[in-house]
Amino acid sequence: MTVTFGGNRALDGAGFAAEAGRVTGLIGPNGAGKSTLFDVVSGLRRPQSGHVTLDGRDITRQTPARRARRGMARTFQRLELFGRLSVRDNLRVAAELGARGREADRTADRVLDRIGLTTDADTAADALPTGAARLLEVGRALAGRPRVLLLDEPAAGQDGEETRRFAALLSDVAGEGCAVVLVEHDMGLVMSVCDEVYVLDLGKVVACGSPEAIQQDQTVLAAYLGEA
Ligand code: ADP
Ligand code: MG
Repeated sequence: MTVTFGGNRALDGAGFAAEAGRVTGLIGPNGAGKSTLFDVVSGLRRPQSGHVTLDGRDITRQTPARRARRGMARTFQRLELFGRLSVRDNLRVAAELGARGREADRTADRVLDRIGLTTDADTAADALPTGAARLLEVGRALAGRPRVLLLDEPAAGQDGEETRRFAALLSDVAGEGCAVVLVEHDMGLVMSVCDEVYVLDLGKVVACGSPEAIQQDQTVLAAYLGEA
């Protein structure tokens, strides 16, 4: 994909493949183009060149809503919750993508339990601490039963225990057949849950491989992970 903002090439030929049942990581320094890539994949930004395909079908010109109905869900680096709605209602909104009435209620309750926010069900989303708010965004994405899940820095603001639970959740979701794509700065989390990792810099993919290979890649080590 190519995306330019004025003279700035945010994406300069970057791309990735995400497979069902796997967690695909996207890492790189701030400004590398990770969030812009998610905007293109989810349909919020049209690329100047390049294509997005889902199950082999070109969806580059489809609206975000249509992509969502076809099973694509995402979270945002800058949280985008329905702040004045309760935690449960944030989930119900998404559950209603695929179900009505009682079934949507049941989906919302299942997701509440899954993300560990059952006791906060009636709290307004605005009142949640950041770690929990990010979990709720992941929950809202899950409530639509996605086949492709794009997560933009979901673990920012989580403590160690929250991150460990979150890692288990991601592995479970992938195990159910979802294609999970994870943008994250927490290298411990990335290296422990990802099957494959792409490294972005200045709008280009500069490395791609297993977590083990990426951790041994000298270019990546020097530039992003620190020599130690
Ligand atoms: P990352 O998520 O990897 O930190 P971004 O995708 O947010 O990177 O940004 C990539 C580049 O595009 C940066 O140089 C950023 O300043 C620029 N950029 C992102 N969004 C906009 C925008 N809406 N207008 C102008 N420049 C933008
Ligand atoms: Mg970003």
